[in-house]
Amino acid sequence: MHQRKRVLVTGGSGFLGSHLCRRLLAENNDVICVDNFFSSARENVLDLTVNPHFELIRHDITQPLYVEADAIYNLACPASPIHYQYDPVQTIKTCVIGSTNMLGLAKRLKCKIFQASTSEVYGDPEQNPQQESYWGHVNPNGIRSCYDEGKRCAESLFFSYRRENRVSIKIGRIFNTYGPNMHPKDGRVVSNFIMQALQNEPITIYGDGSQTRSFCYVDDLIDCMVRFMDTDDNVTGPINMGNPSEFTILELAKKVLALTNSTSTINFLPLPGDDPKQRRPDITLAKQLLQWTPKVSLDEGLVKTIEYFSRLINSTV
Ligand code: NAD
Ligand code: UDP
Ligand code: UDP
Repeated sequence: MHQRKRVLVTGGSGFLGSHLCRRLLAENNDVICVDNFFSSARENVLDLTVNPHFELIRHDITQPLYVEADAIYNLACPASPIHYQYDPVQTIKTCVIGSTNMLGLAKRLKCKIFQASTSEVYGDPEQNPQQESYWGHVNPNGIRSCYDEGKRCAESLFFSYRRENRVSIKIGRIFNTYGPNMHPKDGRVVSNFIMQALQNEPITIYGDGSQTRSFCYVDDLIDCMVRFMDTDDNVTGPINMGNPSEFTILELAKKVLALTNSTSTINFLPLPGDDPKQRRPDITLAKQLLQWTPKVSLDEGLVKTIEYFSRLINSTV
């Protein structure tokens, strides 16, 4: 019989966090959702607040947190470049001080802790696809460094807490993920393109659109996270989590235009600094250790995401 657990999700009202909270509740767990609402709307989890097994706490993880839990998913951190570059010092504090606090909590509670790391630890990679053994190619002081180096430092902190305090850690390197509950204005490419296409506004491609990304649908990603948390203490990661199907940004724009029947034009804008040219996960480890492989194709996932943003636009007009 399933034993009900109390699970802490930091960043729980965010895009990924809100899906994770729902999945954990559906599996008969109690969920404590902690968020400072910096890059998400409370609306993402508002319907859950009537559930007696769900608790929502407004809190910034750069401050200590004393709660009781059986497992921690540490997702708190702005993920979109415009959000994490808005207050880069706060982004670093969230990654470093926030992670330290959550590790201190995991140490006291003797519980497992998952860290939402990122493909950004590989920077602008010289290896494609990226394997976990690759150390990356990161500009330590560019405009992305608050996030990239923050997340790299967090990985180091997680391994240090394991070595020094035997904390049970799970580090997932998440690649570009998309789906319902993304913030419509958070600036990431999938949400931007869909919002623009649905409103017949110009699609903004940064650079010439030849840079690549590999897009994972949110349900696949959450499944991977939950499987990872269920592994034994010797499975620490880092493990790449993402969909290995790689597309250019121009290909993505064309897909979104076709699926929305949009009359939008394409507007080519300057490429921001340090924008990675290619990105694709090698997911051999996830397949072996978690028996996981993504199931939702980009076309299927885009259709579901377009439905979500259509509803959002219609509900606000
Ligand atoms: P998101 O911005 O939607 O969610 C992050 C949440 O964390 C937001 O609700 C935000 O308000 C909250 N938050 C930020 N700083 C906080 C703080 N100091 N204290 C408490 N809450 C705080 O982003 P997301 O896409 O859901 O990303 C979740 C996690 O996954 C992040 O750690 C991100 O770095 C990581 N990640 C996501 C992707 C992706 O493609 N979605 C890729 C790689 C890594
Ligand atoms: N911490 C927390 N909740 C806890 C336990 C610790 O927020 O339940 C914080 C604590 O404030 C500290 C950090 O986690 O700043 C690191 O804790 P640790 O025990 O590793 O460090 P120490 O307290 O010995 O400096
Ligand atoms: N991008 C774009 N137009 C947009 C938003 C993003 O061309 O409106 C590009 C961006 O320059 C990058 C890619 O799409 O090359 C993915 O951007 P996103 O911010 O979603 O994620 P990340 O760069 O962190 O992978």
